[in-house]
Amino acid sequence: MDPETIKQKFRLTADYHTHTIYSRLGPYLHGKGKVVENVAVAFGKGLREIALTDHGPSDFYGLSIRNIPQIRKDIAAAAKRFPRINILLGVEADIVDTPNGLDVTEEEFGLFDFVNAGYHYVPNSHMIQNWLSFRLPCPDSVRERLRKQNTERIIKALTSNNIYILTHPGDKAYIDTHAVAKVCEETDTLVEINARHRHPDCEELKIFAGYDVKFVISSDAHRPEKVGRYVKSLQLALSAGIDPERIINIEELRAE
Ligand SMILES: [Zn+2]
Ligand SMILES: [Zn+2]
Repeated sequence: MDPETIKQKFRLTADYHTHTIYSRLGPYLHGKGKVVENVAVAFGKGLREIALTDHGPSDFYGLSIRNIPQIRKDIAAAAKRFPRINILLGVEADIVDTPNGLDVTEEEFGLFDFVNAGYHYVPNSHMIQNWLSFRLPCPDSVRERLRKQNTERIIKALTSNNIYILTHPGDKAYIDTHAVAKVCEETDTLVEINARHRHPDCEELKIFAGYDVKFVISSDAHRPEKVGRYVKSLQLALSAGIDPERIINIEELRAE
């Protein structure tokens, strides 16, 4: 289906994965938009709901837990200006080797409205190996070991915590897509179709679609103007044969 037809037939109702200036390393801003700027774009595009989901604290550009009261204040201020859109605070936790498999502890879960989880190149040896495996010639045996470890870590993170969305599965770390799809099915975790990353791709989405999972389209916006992007992701989902009714934040516009 071409992009114009998609825009006429389907709309995005919510964006549950956006970054703000709270994803930063000191003065360097990884996310460029203020909370209110992301909210303004979401409202302008007709979304009913938006979430701010900055990177987990172990990331180079991760949020500081101590900034959460300020982020809540920013959300309250944005809610006054845009009362007709619901604003949520989430986090994109990193999957790491900790007791609960994340860089957000069980106690910290209560600070957020929900927690997403995914892989990023955080400074630990495991993720450095993943990073190198995409950039240097990588023997099959190493790739398969990483794939197994990456998959085990996702299974641990998803079975030990209540995760809302598994973000961009297959990106930044090789995975066993069947095993990941199965654990998403068992734990009721949404599979993300990400507007910013190349994975999951069409073939991987076909595998996910073979399991009893639901999908979500996310902009993963790092700039306000990218909030609410969905057309290419929906095009990809349709080409993978995914019924739009399985995508929780897509609404079909029916002709009157
Ligand atoms: Zn991410
Ligand atoms: Zn992200």
